[in-house]
Amino acid sequence: MSGRVDVLVLAAHPDDAEIGCGGTIMSLIEASRQVAIVDMTQGEMGTRGSVPERAEECARATAMLGVSERRNLMLPDAGLKDDDGAVRAVIEVLRELRPQLFLVPLIHDAHPDHEAAGRVAKRAFFLTGLKNYHPELGSAHRPAIMLSYFGNDYQDPSFCLDISRWVEKKRQVVSCYSSQVGGTDKQHFLRGLDPLDRTEARDRFFGANCGYRAAEPFVHDGPIPLTDLSPFLPPAP
Ligand SMILES: [Zn+2]
Repeated sequence: MSGRVDVLVLAAHPDDAEIGCGGTIMSLIEASRQVAIVDMTQGEMGTRGSVPERAEECARATAMLGVSERRNLMLPDAGLKDDDGAVRAVIEVLRELRPQLFLVPLIHDAHPDHEAAGRVAKRAFFLTGLKNYHPELGSAHRPAIMLSYFGNDYQDPSFCLDISRWVEKKRQVVSCYSSQVGGTDKQHFLRGLDPLDRTEARDRFFGANCGYRAAEPFVHDGPIPLTDLSPFLPPAP
């Protein structure tokens, strides 16, 4: 049975999905894939921006992206825990939306919420496939593959996706979060750098390593399963 969406993106905070894999989401949507985003918290502990402001920014970014569905699990910002409650909340969505591709935060990250979200994703990815694990949350379903997108920190990626065509639109979408990026007060920013600037520098860096204008990096736990080498060849005539 095909799922309600092809791809589910899990994020700790509104804006993480756009920052980590916004260009990838745009390329999936252009390819007529159904994409849903699940934010785990409302970002209520952010130094700037109230919850209503951030919800409004998120709605604007979501509309611009064109994702088919976006939800918020309302878990505590700056207190996100890798606990059974969070795992069950993610499993309930996985079993309802039944994606084949699960994009999740990289565990290696300076922000404790990102790290916790990555750990919750890893446990949920496994446990959701067990039919006797909380059957009241829906029938077992494990996505075919889980890939981690980047947040604040560096790790060698398993691969990078060309997002050269989406650089300007990604900037517009991330800029929807005007309480989180831009402005003159940069003291609270990690490493004193605006998140949009850091995102664009990262995308250019990984793009430069691959011969693209910009690219988004991903980590897969273990070898990447391929059935043929077409990703490395031009389209057949
Ligand atoms: Zn975040």
